[in-house]
Amino acid sequence: MTGPALAGYEMVVGLEVHCELSTATKLFCSCPNSFGDEPNTNVCPVCMGLPGSLPVLNRRAVELAMRIGTALHSTIVSSTFHRKNYFYPDMPKAYQISQYDEPINVGGYLELPGGERVGIVRAHLEEDTAKSTHRVSQGAGSGRLGSGRIDDATSSLIDYNRAGVPLVEIVSAPDISSAEEARSYVSELRAVLVATSASDGRMEEGSLRVDANVSVRPLGARALGTRCEIKNLNSIRSVGHAIDYEARRQVELISSGKRVTQQTRHWNEAEPMTIPLRSKEEAEDYRYFPDPDLVPLAPGAAWVSRVAAELPILPAERRSALLELFAGSGPAERGAIEAQVATVVAQELDGFVVAAVGGGEPGPAGARARLARIALSRAANELASGLAGGQSVEPSGFAELVAMEASGELTATQAKAVLAEMASTGKGARSIAGARGLAALGDDELAGVLASVAGSHPSEWARYLDGEAKVSGFLVGQVMRATRGRADGQKVTEALAELRGRGGADDERAASPAAGATPG
Ligand code: ZN
Ligand code: MN
Repeated sequence: MTGPALAGYEMVVGLEVHCELSTATKLFCSCPNSFGDEPNTNVCPVCMGLPGSLPVLNRRAVELAMRIGTALHSTIVSSTFHRKNYFYPDMPKAYQISQYDEPINVGGYLELPGGERVGIVRAHLEEDTAKSTHRVSQGAGSGRLGSGRIDDATSSLIDYNRAGVPLVEIVSAPDISSAEEARSYVSELRAVLVATSASDGRMEEGSLRVDANVSVRPLGARALGTRCEIKNLNSIRSVGHAIDYEARRQVELISSGKRVTQQTRHWNEAEPMTIPLRSKEEAEDYRYFPDPDLVPLAPGAAWVSRVAAELPILPAERRSALLELFAGSGPAERGAIEAQVATVVAQELDGFVVAAVGGGEPGPAGARARLARIALSRAANELASGLAGGQSVEPSGFAELVAMEASGELTATQAKAVLAEMASTGKGARSIAGARGLAALGDDELAGVLASVAGSHPSEWARYLDGEAKVSGFLVGQVMRATRGRADGQKVTEALAELRGRGGADDERAASPAAGATPG
């Protein structure tokens, strides 16, 4: 997909995602792998690179790397660790232990929600660096964060707690051709990493960091253009913005007869723009050589197949399972349902919808569809929006609430309010509804209200029975008014339709109310 700014050109994007693994300890020592601790407390001779210390590989990190590879359809092969040599304060050993030409996971793909496949080149194990913070001082003793870049800092702080934290670096093929596709890739990859428990997926804490390799070429050309790498994008939003900006910058350069220089660039979200960090180093600059302290890693076939067998159900499969609940929905609704299903699965809320639908009686198909539609809406909107953390709402409690809304005991508005109170107090739906006086409006009561509305508005009623559809809204409004919003609009509409279907009191061949209708 090419935006107007790229007229005549297309972008070619490959992403490298560094993912911090959710292990208890670091990759080569027993220091805790824990975010947010007091700086420089989770350190030891191994991760500080002191002479004479020796690395011992973390078995759990290997297992999580294998899980990631399995989920990405990679081949798990025997691998080796190399030293990637460079001198920088965030790397106390003056080299990073990383997998170089023999990574643990080779090949594979990630399927995006839209069905496109992005190739995976490799997913290798390596250790994280320390975290530097560059500050600009302002008078005695005070320091504030500057641009975050070293070149306008007056002092720098370094926290070695992150040095040696296990990472898997997932390198995609240059198969991505739009910012939208890049966002979709990162979001789906994040969902896979969270689903496999390999990572907590918290981009704001740096658990996932994205480098984007961006180049452009004339539409239809096969040869790749010169690429620039944008480092350390830490939100899905930044990934999209930075790629769009960088592709436009390159097209402008080329269109004005200049050349793109291969560079590593930094994304400044505030400006927003990319700025050069350094001209791109080549692999030979790092003087890679095999780490003599570590033996080759060769997971046995039994271990590989156990990891595959234990792999949880992945987001793509969970989305299709959830979509099956909506097989009967019309094409008009399809887009909204698919978007809500994607949200619910990405936020790990599909268990709530399944509990709400699966817990119910088999019952008529229409009732089940209505239950599913309400559960999906409440999960994708109220639960997904955080709703006071949502921690205190259990799937069973959510199922009770959805059942009450589906049966018309609660209107949509009431159900949202009850759900918010469930989340903040941990109480059950029924007891909250009772305490708030949201008693069910029973069918008998509704029939009574309908009769009294018909009695006080005889001409509208007659017009409605004659088939004047637009009077329906007026009558529903009158019922809502009479019940002070306790009635469910959808149910009132159905009851009205049923009355009209009977054409009065005599004809008992009642037309069935529209089943499986959509909640608001
Ligand atoms: Zn350590
Ligand atoms: Mn790396």
